[in-house]
Amino acid sequence: MEPIPHDTAGESECEHALGHLYEYLDSEMTPEDEHRMRAHVAHCAPCLAELSVEELVKQLVRRSCNERAPETLRLRIHEQLTVMTTLRG
Ligand SMILES: [Zn+2]
Repeated sequence: MEPIPHDTAGESECEHALGHLYEYLDSEMTPEDEHRMRAHVAHCAPCLAELSVEELVKQLVRRSCNERAPETLRLRIHEQLTVMTTLRG
């Protein structure tokens, strides 16, 4: 996979990744965008953390059959992952 640099003209890779997070998780992306997303999170820890949070929340929500995860749960997962990422980095 080709690493994609962060500074591109116009939309930054982080903005792209975060802006299409839900499309990615719902598999609604074009193959090009999905590839771009994967290539980006492969080397961008903050975006990978963000993606992991949403993925976890999505799984938990699906399991508990709620429409949306409570904001507290989302924040808690986010906090834990941020700590993990910080410690690792
Ligand atoms: Zn990023």
